[in-house]
Amino acid sequence: MRPETTDMTQDFSKYRLATRAVRAGQRRTREGEHAEPIFTTSSYVFGSAQEAAARFAGEVPGNIYSRFTNPTVRTFEERLAALEGGACCVATASGMAAILATCLGLLKSGDHIVSSQSIFGSTTVLFDNYLGKLGIDTSYVRLDDPAAWEAAIRPETRLMFLETPSNPLTTLGDIAALAELAHAHDCLLAVDNCFCTPALQQPLALGADIVIHSATKYLDGQGRCIGGAVVGDAERVGGDVYGFLRTAGPSMSPFNAWVFLKGLETLELRMRAHSAAAARLAAWLETHPAVARVYYPGLASHPQHELASRQQSGFGGIVSFEVVGGQAAAWQVIDATELLSITANLGDAKTTITHPASTTHGRLSPEQRQEAGIGDGLIRVAVGLEDPLDIQEDLARGLDALG
Ligand SMILES: *Cc1c(COP(=O)(O)O)cnc(C)c1O
Repeated sequence: MRPETTDMTQDFSKYRLATRAVRAGQRRTREGEHAEPIFTTSSYVFGSAQEAAARFAGEVPGNIYSRFTNPTVRTFEERLAALEGGACCVATASGMAAILATCLGLLKSGDHIVSSQSIFGSTTVLFDNYLGKLGIDTSYVRLDDPAAWEAAIRPETRLMFLETPSNPLTTLGDIAALAELAHAHDCLLAVDNCFCTPALQQPLALGADIVIHSATKYLDGQGRCIGGAVVGDAERVGGDVYGFLRTAGPSMSPFNAWVFLKGLETLELRMRAHSAAAARLAAWLETHPAVARVYYPGLASHPQHELASRQQSGFGGIVSFEVVGGQAAAWQVIDATELLSITANLGDAKTTITHPASTTHGRLSPEQRQEAGIGDGLIRVAVGLEDPLDIQEDLARGLDALG
């Protein structure tokens, strides 16, 4: 009898990524179901008072209460851990909850964070307004300037934080180099791996200590649910971050975990398709007379193309470009589309188009935007899974009118 008939405690590390994405973490019940079930239960019953006591005391493993033990959520956690190559994963209610759980699980008042300045807007607000209130200060540096990272480190720095490639300009951080710097200063390196996913980039293998996800994006892949995750070692993620999660409770719902599990099964296929379509679109945009500059790590013209080729196994689905003519021209191109969705989300099968200067980066002052390189003519496209030619033709309408 194959062991997984009732309890799949198989070692999946010997399998390749696409196999782990389909299979890892599943525990079949005695019903013999093929697909992963959704366990919609808030609590679990025990065989005896003694068993209940042993589980509560942590002496025997097993489910207790779905804020911190749920089989569907655990399957998602084990599958994502197997993809990122981490010992432990903690699923959370959102990507922001994953960042919060990481910081409150690992940091204390007086600690200091050095962060890339090119991070998700709400992450900056979390660091400045909420961690700042607790006495945890953050310094911001240019993602692609290793000397600036080193100069910003203080004796009390405990965490370095980055996203790579960045949004929307697809600037890269050198994960291996920054991990080495972090470890030389007794710091942890956390990488928000939202844009690449483990299908294209595995930060832990490059030396990072913690990987953070907004599962809302590519892990879901079809824009349905909000969720997040933290992946890393047994002590910090399995102990400290999980400890915060089980107490404070920003937990992932079993239904959302199930949607993300189904998303993971097609992750590698989808990321390859997003990357291929984005590469094609970027190459076409580079030849268009109304386009001043294209930002895509897969282009030979990208200043960090060599690092991207080394650090990532694909270049991802996000393409940004600057049109000649500033905001009026950018809005004209966006408003001329009929197919693309005008929204700020990304990681969906549906292609989305965004004007960063007036939406995601609208809170910045014009000077701050200029400093960050977010021009008024910049457009971001999160390339979806439609036919790439239809995406191109939808953009061509507005661009040709400008040209
Ligand atoms: C969306 C996003 C987040 C926040 O995730 P939510 O699931 O919306 O809470 C964090 N980091 C990056 C890079 C994101 O794109």
